[in-house]
Amino acid sequence: MAEIGHGGKEIKERILAPAEAKKKIHGLTQIPISRQLANEVIGISYGFFSPLEGFMNKADVDAVVRHMHLDDGTIWPIPILFDLSDEDIAKYGVERGLTVVLTYQGNPMALFEINDVFEYDKKAMCKSIFGTDEKKHPGCKRIYDTADKFVGGKITLVNEPVINDPFGPYFLPPLKMRAAIKSKGWSRTVAHQTRNVPHTGHEWLMKGAFFQTYADLPIEKPEVGVVVNAIIGEKRVKDYIDEAIILCQDELEKAGYFGPHNHITTLTFWDMRYAGPKEAIFHAILRTNLGITHHMYGRDHAGVGDYYGAYEAHHLLDSVRDKLDITPVYSMNWLYCPVCAEITSEGLCNHKDKQQKFSGTLIRSIVTDGVKPPRLIIRPEVFDKIMECAEKYGQGSPFVTEEYLEKRTPVFNIYPL
Ligand SMILES: [Zn+2]
Repeated sequence: MAEIGHGGKEIKERILAPAEAKKKIHGLTQIPISRQLANEVIGISYGFFSPLEGFMNKADVDAVVRHMHLDDGTIWPIPILFDLSDEDIAKYGVERGLTVVLTYQGNPMALFEINDVFEYDKKAMCKSIFGTDEKKHPGCKRIYDTADKFVGGKITLVNEPVINDPFGPYFLPPLKMRAAIKSKGWSRTVAHQTRNVPHTGHEWLMKGAFFQTYADLPIEKPEVGVVVNAIIGEKRVKDYIDEAIILCQDELEKAGYFGPHNHITTLTFWDMRYAGPKEAIFHAILRTNLGITHHMYGRDHAGVGDYYGAYEAHHLLDSVRDKLDITPVYSMNWLYCPVCAEITSEGLCNHKDKQQKFSGTLIRSIVTDGVKPPRLIIRPEVFDKIMECAEKYGQGSPFVTEEYLEKRTPVFNIYPL
């Protein structure tokens, strides 16, 4: 049976078998790509970005920038770009009609059938996606840092990435994810977007969304699964290390705060653009393609600094509900209340002056000190896992350091074909 993804299109993996791949790449020009582009190649070829079949041509980029949809009218908020310098365009003879092999780590990764080479006004692009063209916005910076030209065209994977430990079991691309959901027997699933090690505020965000998702289902058979979908991509110093994010999210299930009957931890390769409301829509598309029916959105989803209002993403999502095939589940902030002696939601109990926010800075300092925090803040099993990951993967720190970036095992490798 066809698996239908975003925009009502069938999800198809764009991957060649090794024997055919070897034949197809023979004698073609090879262009090495960055980790950023390799991530996007994975997103395209496994169907995470369905209905995209490749990097965007100018017509699609222009439609996305001006109208938040692809050239064919399918809603789409963020351009998927392949950039190349004028120097490289000349060096590799890049032009419309040429097919090249993209290589990563020195080995062939994908076929790229070039159908467009173009320039685009980066300032206008930033303004549209991020609502600002300031260079200090990390998403704008990424666009300003792209090379002279963009190249559009279809991508076909010729060599599947090998996902390294401990990430392998968590890589469930759309078709695998959909099979996993079927085998779990879930009629509804709710996605949790994360780049964090979970504290109890996050745990309750998930539990709250779980209740909201099954609210109108028969109580004795909820058949609802929480799908933690961690974003693995560009790391910044002081972020949690990827290994801690994925293993600590899974620890919530292993330690029984959830169970395999209602919870699964997975990952998607994506570099956060911090596009707030527009990224919220992109996340909806990703998770639609993963076969997920509901998506939780908390405060300031995918935001950065004070560029976006706390619930701006909710408003934009509401305005395009009929164009999305996933149901947004909105959540307020979860807090700790010392009077209730438990986790509470903004506006739920009336101890307003006593409630304590989960401050990232406070939690960071607790974790850095290595003193086990109260179990109502971070579950003890999660805390132990953070410390284990710090030793095993982070040279003693659960947070990204320059040393970690230099010495870490890559999340995936491309080996000789
Ligand atoms: Zn209270």
